[in-house]
Amino acid sequence: MNMNESGMQTGSSFLEEIIRESNVDIRACYQCQKCSAGCPVVSAMDMYPNQVIRQIQYGRREKVLGSKSIWVCASCHTCSVRCPNDIDFAKVMDTLRHIALRSGIIAGEKDVPVFHMVFLESIKRTGRIHELSLILRFKLKTRDFLKDAGLGWQMFRRGKIKILPQVYSARREIKELFNTYEKGAAQ
Ligand code: SF4
Ligand code: SF4
Repeated sequence: MNMNESGMQTGSSFLEEIIRESNVDIRACYQCQKCSAGCPVVSAMDMYPNQVIRQIQYGRREKVLGSKSIWVCASCHTCSVRCPNDIDFAKVMDTLRHIALRSGIIAGEKDVPVFHMVFLESIKRTGRIHELSLILRFKLKTRDFLKDAGLGWQMFRRGKIKILPQVYSARREIKELFNTYEKGAAQ
């Protein structure tokens, strides 16, 4: 076991990496499974939340970062609220997604990481989502042009998809937030 700068004991380098980036001490997990029992999307996961923690503790980097679970997670924070040890597991999942993208590991879920990137790029560029350009970029990247086309047309007819993006006054501040995060992640 090693110690990180916060004085936390860590076992594997992957565990250290997750604790350092998320600032969540997952070593406190005692596998009670309350997180998994309350997760609304657990049936679609290939590894339950408590199993993700165990695999991180074992240092199984490729297995965790290549899992479907980290992309199926809906960031609802139910697990974080239910944990008796105050482990913010939703934050850990977010950290895992960022590391997976940086590492270029092939994701267990194909389209969700693409959507994740396109979504963040859109927020960074305009400060808020413009649905039409989001859909077009996503379709160009996945090359799946017909899927959900009927649904998209119905949304357009009901005015849910605007042709022009709205200008958001705090656009510059949001861009700065992204730049600050990207600089920190690169260090
Ligand atoms: S609820 Fe907390 S302590 Fe229990 S398994 Fe999940 S992360 Fe571990
Ligand atoms: S944040 Fe993710 S892992 Fe946690 S309960 Fe919600 S969907 Fe499940």
